[in-house]
Amino acid sequence: MSRVLQAYRFALDPNNVQAANLNRHAGARRYAFNWGLAFVKAALGQREAEKSYGLSGDDLTPVPWTLPALRLRWNQIKNGIAPWWAGCSKEAFSAGLADLANALKNFTDSKKGKCKGGKVGFPRFKKRGKARDSFRYTTGSYGPCGELHVKLPRIGPVKVHEPMGALTSRLVDGRARLGGATVSRTAGRWFVSFTVETEREIPDTPSARQVRGGVVGIDLGVKHLAVLSTGEKVPNPKHAARAEKELRRTSRAYARSQPGSNGRAKLAAELAKQHAHTANQRRDGLHKLTTELARTHRTVVIEDLNVTGMVRNRHLAKAVFDVGMGELRRQLEYKCGRTVRNPKTGTDVYVPGWHGAHLHVADRWYPSSKTCSGCGWRNPSLTLSDRTFTCKRCGLVIDRDENAAINLRRLVDREYIGDVKTARGADRKTSALAVPARRQVAAKREPGTARADQTGGASPRGEAA
Ligand SMILES: [Zn+2]
Repeated sequence: MSRVLQAYRFALDPNNVQAANLNRHAGARRYAFNWGLAFVKAALGQREAEKSYGLSGDDLTPVPWTLPALRLRWNQIKNGIAPWWAGCSKEAFSAGLADLANALKNFTDSKKGKCKGGKVGFPRFKKRGKARDSFRYTTGSYGPCGELHVKLPRIGPVKVHEPMGALTSRLVDGRARLGGATVSRTAGRWFVSFTVETEREIPDTPSARQVRGGVVGIDLGVKHLAVLSTGEKVPNPKHAARAEKELRRTSRAYARSQPGSNGRAKLAAELAKQHAHTANQRRDGLHKLTTELARTHRTVVIEDLNVTGMVRNRHLAKAVFDVGMGELRRQLEYKCGRTVRNPKTGTDVYVPGWHGAHLHVADRWYPSSKTCSGCGWRNPSLTLSDRTFTCKRCGLVIDRDENAAINLRRLVDREYIGDVKTARGADRKTSALAVPARRQVAAKREPGTARADQTGGASPRGEAA
């Protein structure tokens, strides 16, 4: 048995008073963030002025750059500037300050070049209606009370939309412990998400089914939910097509509406609701798929997704697809084990997942779509609209997504066999004989790092399988 972190998310049905209260808490978090940012900016300005007078070192006004410093200042000042603070949970203000401290840290790290990806700018003020409404509880008496209510300090017991069966029974018999709650609003609807530390049996060796399943590559399709290297096409969840059609209609109406008009605001709200609905349906479909994949394969291979460099795409299908790609990876990461590089030491650490399979994420530059899975020929001019791959060398004609999925599977077969150049054709047979990928990876584990099957080392987050 090992302890893992899991998240449980429930939709809330607050009454009008509670809804106003939830809004007020989200506002409190925003208020604390903006107050802290204004304070930091003022202190920075003051320092610049002092430097021009010739002051230096300890004589300069200190800038509250960290969470403890921000908290200290806030507690000294809150009665004066926000006498209403006691009406909201302290945690809401704390969360705002923590977010600010985090944003400031990211900014400094990025400046020093420590951050991967794009440059992080100086934090900006959060506008009401623009920033995401949310706040957190980490201490105090929050949590499920009964099957159908959630206790939130200062707000009271709020009804949940569906019974919390699995979570409450785990909490009651002590198999799970609460580690925080986040309340947030998506598309006009409030949700609570509990982080729960729970016990889970994580297998140490692959099951017979997983060995039989071997390595599988997955490519996310637009027309299908996913296409596997076995050629299997996993259909989109039921009703998804209808939901997407409605979404398309609303987004067209939105584009035609008058900027700033009431109608446009209504359509924007409707659009957000439909977007959330479509994403939920896709997520449910992905949960079924990822659990099945992790239970029946030793190694699952997916593409990397360049999230920071991703161009915001206007096409709806692409937007839905991108969300799905990130979600697929997130789910597979905790259902399968994976190797992560420790940025400090540069060594690879193996983090086990729930089902004892292994997840391999292809290098971002691996041309899975552009390479012929039959002979290795590359088609550099392949575009997103080409739905079939036609090889000009060996004449293979194959579904684009299936071709990519096969290439992804091959990537791992080759890497673990150590046969990079001459694999062609032969690798299909050798894959079944290859050393289980997870043992090889486990051997690379950094000495001294705890494995989740020894202590609570793993912390995969996500919903129940
Ligand atoms: Zn070919």
